[in-house]
Amino acid sequence: MEIAVFSTQSYDRQFIDAAASNQHQIHYIEAKLTRDTAVLAQGAGAVCVFVNDQVDDGALQVLKSLGVGLVALRSAGFNNVDLAAAKRHGVVIARVPAYSPEAVSEHAVALILSLDRNIHRAYARVRDGNFALEGLLGFNLHGRTVGVVGTGRIGACVARIMKGFGCKLVAYDIKPNTACTEIGVMYVPLAKLLQESDIVTLHCPLTPETRHLIDADAISRMKRGAMLINTSRGAIVDTQAVVDGIKSGAIGHLGLDVYEEEAALFFDDKSDQIIRDDLFERLLTFPNVLITGHQGFFTEEALKAIADTTMANIDAFAKTGKAVYEVTEAI
Ligand code: NAD
Repeated sequence: MEIAVFSTQSYDRQFIDAAASNQHQIHYIEAKLTRDTAVLAQGAGAVCVFVNDQVDDGALQVLKSLGVGLVALRSAGFNNVDLAAAKRHGVVIARVPAYSPEAVSEHAVALILSLDRNIHRAYARVRDGNFALEGLLGFNLHGRTVGVVGTGRIGACVARIMKGFGCKLVAYDIKPNTACTEIGVMYVPLAKLLQESDIVTLHCPLTPETRHLIDADAISRMKRGAMLINTSRGAIVDTQAVVDGIKSGAIGHLGLDVYEEEAALFFDDKSDQIIRDDLFERLLTFPNVLITGHQGFFTEEALKAIADTTMANIDAFAKTGKAVYEVTEAI
């Protein structure tokens, strides 16, 4: 089968080539999938996409008319897919439900540690010959309360790691996880988690219920000066409300690996361009904000597992018309 891989970066090519059998012809495309670029999948039976590809009604309509039967996501999240439209057009959607929860959880912890001890500022200072400590004061993680929102694969992993630092763990999830209660995580309502946590870390999927879960009201319930970490999906936080929260001191530290409007920015080198997103640029002006460009998943182990599962989805679809990990409804 011919496979059109959208949003290809050199590392995608490296890991997909290693995972692919010779039975498929792989066509790598740098462009994102949109309703306008979908025609590039001409001749393909399956397309492979990533987090910022727009698998909406328009794109699915074009894909279906070209004879594409499968959209294989190289991600766990599928908030960029119109599932109702996929069902209507008879296009199978597959994803990689679990590849390396350790990769994303370790990145969330990296953000926590960097922000707490001001590593991002210390790095720049020392390179500039400035060895003053003023402004770099941190706090011990030991004894602090960490609130985990969403305790699935990644959230549970974060809870385990933070437990190792001697933190108290509270969590909020619509489906509590026994792996968490067994290590002493206490499930509480979201309002109580926000009120008690020194660090709030988000690991639920983006759904209509979680869109702007962290808004002005939620921020007003947080412990003053608490740290907020989002490595899940950008739109779980209302970015304007978070900017206001940092300006007022309600939020003491902010670590983001994802951003509401990241589709226009992330995964490309834009260092020669003028960034026109004023809200994003405002975030970059704060000394207590650390942003990475959606790299939580970016480890060797995760990329290998993503490529292996993606090819397993495509192989199964080519043989049986069904993928291994099909997405049929919002989870
Ligand atoms: P998962 O499905 O294992 O866990 C998600 C948890 O969120 C589940 O326990 C679920 O019950 C809970 N949940 C769902 N709706 C909720 C709600 N309304 N309120 C509270 N909790 C809710 O998923 P996972 O593998 O742990 O991944 C979590 C998210 O991380 C993904 O959805 C994705 O958006 C994000 N992610 C980011 C990266 C990255 O590179 N930054 C990589 C992979 C995944």
